[in-house]
Amino acid sequence: MTKKIDSRIPEGPIAEKWTNYKAHQRLVNPKNKLKLDVIVVGTGLAGASAAASLAEMGFNVYNFCIQDSPRRAHSIAAQGGINAAKNYQNDGDSVYRLFYDTVKGGDYRAREANVYRLAEVSNNIIDQCVAQGVPFAREYGGMLANRSFGGAQVSRTFYAKGQTGQQLLLGAYSSLSKEVQKGKVKLFTRYEMEDVVIIDGRARGIIAKNLVTGKLERFSANAVVIATGGYGNAYFLSTNAMGCNCTAAIQCYRKGAMMANPSYVQIHPTCIPVHGDKQSKLTLMSESLRNDGRIWVPKKLEDAKKLQKGEIQAWDIPEEDRDYYLERRYPAFGNLVPRDVASRAAKERCDKGFGVNNTGLAVFLDFSESINRLGLDAMKQRYGNLFDMYEEITDVYPGDFGKEINGVKYYKPMMIFPAIHYTMGGVWVDYELQTSIPGLFAIGECNFSDHGANRLGASALMQGLADGYFVLPYTIQNYLADQAIWPRLSTDMPEFDAAEKAVAAEIDRLMNIKGKRSVDSIHKELGHIMWEHVGMGRTKEGLEEGLKLLKDLRKEFDSNLFIPGSKEGLNVELDKAIHLRDFILMGELVAYDALHREESCGGHFREEHQTEEGEAKRDDENFFYVGCWDYQGSDEKAPELIKEPLNYEIIKVQQRNYKN
Ligand SMILES: Cc1cc2nc3c(=O)[nH]c(=O)nc-3n(C[C@H](O)[C@H](O)[C@H](O)COP(=O)(O)OP(=O)(O)OC[C@H]3O[C@@H](n4cnc5c(N)ncnc54)[C@H](O)[C@@H]3O)c2cc1C
Repeated sequence: MTKKIDSRIPEGPIAEKWTNYKAHQRLVNPKNKLKLDVIVVGTGLAGASAAASLAEMGFNVYNFCIQDSPRRAHSIAAQGGINAAKNYQNDGDSVYRLFYDTVKGGDYRAREANVYRLAEVSNNIIDQCVAQGVPFAREYGGMLANRSFGGAQVSRTFYAKGQTGQQLLLGAYSSLSKEVQKGKVKLFTRYEMEDVVIIDGRARGIIAKNLVTGKLERFSANAVVIATGGYGNAYFLSTNAMGCNCTAAIQCYRKGAMMANPSYVQIHPTCIPVHGDKQSKLTLMSESLRNDGRIWVPKKLEDAKKLQKGEIQAWDIPEEDRDYYLERRYPAFGNLVPRDVASRAAKERCDKGFGVNNTGLAVFLDFSESINRLGLDAMKQRYGNLFDMYEEITDVYPGDFGKEINGVKYYKPMMIFPAIHYTMGGVWVDYELQTSIPGLFAIGECNFSDHGANRLGASALMQGLADGYFVLPYTIQNYLADQAIWPRLSTDMPEFDAAEKAVAAEIDRLMNIKGKRSVDSIHKELGHIMWEHVGMGRTKEGLEEGLKLLKDLRKEFDSNLFIPGSKEGLNVELDKAIHLRDFILMGELVAYDALHREESCGGHFREEHQTEEGEAKRDDENFFYVGCWDYQGSDEKAPELIKEPLNYEIIKVQQRNYKN
C-alpha cells in the first residue's frame, strides 16, 4: 500500500509558524524526562549538539559513534564557516534574506517553512557557540568578523580561520562531556549501528556492532535519533572523511523510513584535482577562498595547450589573456556564485579544452589581485592553514611569487576542480524531523530537510547545529510526551532477537562469499559508475546504463567479494564491506531519482534540460515536489516513488539569476 506523506507544517504565517509550534507543542514534565531514554547515533555537530541538549534537559541519552572519540566525527573537517543572519556588517542582512537566499540557492526545491525556521534560529547558534567559548574570528574592535560565501551578496559567515568545524565541534564536545561526566549521556565509541528495531510500528532501539570485539549488542530506548552524516562516499572519491557512510540511514530505509531527493548531490567547485588512479580521497579547498581568489582559465586555446604540456606556467599569462569566466558570465555574483553554478562553469571550460593541468581537468584559483592589494600576510591570516594544506599536497605555495609582467606582479595560483562534497538528499523527515517511522528522527546531513537541490556554503554547520541545539529538543518532546507511561522495553523481546539474528546472518553471508575482489576495488568501480553516469552531467541514456551497471556490480559484490580475517574482533575490511553494500543501494537510489526527475535543478543537472546559455532548466509544473522513495522489501526491487508537494506561501518561484 502506498504510504501517505504528512509534512506536519504548522498553520499560520511563515514568520510565526515556529513560534506558534513551540507555544503549542506537548512538553514532557521534568520527572517524566528522567524516565525516558533516547538513543542518538552520531557525535558530529548534529549528534553531539542533540545529545548534549537532550541530556541537559533531563533525558537519559545513549550516544554512539564509530570513531574512538566524538571529536573525530567528520564535522571536524569543516573549514570555511557557519552562516547566521546577525547583520553585524550592517550590509542589509536579515532573517528573511538568509531564508530567501537559501531557498533560491536550493533552486526552489526546499520546504519554505523549514528554511524559515533555520534562518530564524541561526542567530541563536552563534550566541550559543560564543557562550561555549568557540574562538570565532574577530575584528580589531572585538566584534565577530564575517566573510562571504557563495549565493549571497552579504557577509554573514562566521569563521575560525579555516578550522570552523573543529572549533564548533570542540564546543559541542565540551557540552557533551559535561553531560557524560554527570552520567546523563552514556557514550559508546567504536560502535556501529547496524539496524533499527521496530516494535508495534515504532522505533524502539538499535542493534550495534562493537567494532573492537566484533560482538553485536542490543540497546532499547523510547526514541532513536540518527545523525550519521551524508552519503558522498558512494562516489568513492569525495571530500568526505574516509569513514563517512550511509549504513544507518540505508538500514532505516530498509525498515520503512523513506529516502528523499537522493539525486541532489553537491559537487564542490574548489577541490584539489584528481592526480592519479591510486588516490582514495579528495581534498577540499574551502569556498571561503573565493572571497579573495579569482577563478580563471586562459582566453586562448593555445595557452591552455601549453599549460597542459607544462611549457608555460600560470604566471606567464598576463591579465588581458585571462578569462575570469565566472565574473564574465555572472557579473552580479562573480566568483561567489553558488557551488552548482561554479562547478558546471568549470566543467564547461574544461570540456571546451581550456583546462590548465596535464589532465585538462583543472582551473586556476588566483590570489594575485588580493595579494597586490592587501599583502600576503593578510591572505595568510585569513587562509594560512589552507595555503599550507595546499602546499603539503601539491608542493606549491599559492602565495609564492611567480613573475612580473608589465608592472603587474603575479603569484602562484591554486589549481582546483569540482568534486563530490555534500548530499542534500537523505532520510525524509517532517517538520518535526521525524522520519516516516514513528519514534525515529534524523538530523544533520543525513536528513534531506533544508537545502533543496543545492546547499549554500556554510549552511551545513548551521543546519546541523540548528537541528541539534534548537529544533529537535523541542520537537522530540511532542513525540515523547505520552511515552513515559511505557515501561522500559526489554532487549529480550522477540523483535530484538530477530533483528540481531538478521544482522549476524548478513555478516556471515558477507564473510562466506570468499571471492577474489577486495572491498576497495569494488568501491572504486562503484565510484567510477557514479561519476560517469550519475555525476555532474546526467542523461536518460547514461542513467539507464548506470542503473544496469549498478545492478551488475551488486551481483559482483555478492559473488566475488573477499573479506580477509574473521568476524570476531576488529575487522576493518568487514566494516568497509558493510558500508559498500549500502553505498551500492544508495547509488541506485540516486540514479532512480535522477532518472525520474526530467528537469535540471541545483546539483541535479540533466543535460536534456538546460537553457540556451547552459543553465539548469527547471520544470515547476511537473516536478515541484520532494521525491520520496519507499523500499519495496528487497534490494533487488525498484523503490516506489511518493511525492510530497511543495507549497510556497511567500517566495515567488522563478528562474535563478546570478547575473544582475
Ligand atoms: C572538507 C569539508 C569541509 C566542509 N566545510 C564546511 C563549512 O565550512 N561550512 C559548512 O557549513 N559545512 C561544511 N562542510 C559540510 C559539513 O562539514 C557537514 O555537512 C557536517 O559536518 C555534517 O555533520 P553531521 O553531524 O550531520 O555528520 P558528521 O559530522 O558526518 O557525523 C556523523 C557521525 O555519525 C557517526 N556514525 C556514522 N555512521 C554510524 C553508524 N552506523 N553507527 C554509529 N555511528 C555512526 C560518526 O561516527 C559521526 O560521529 C564541509 C564538508 C567537508 C567534507
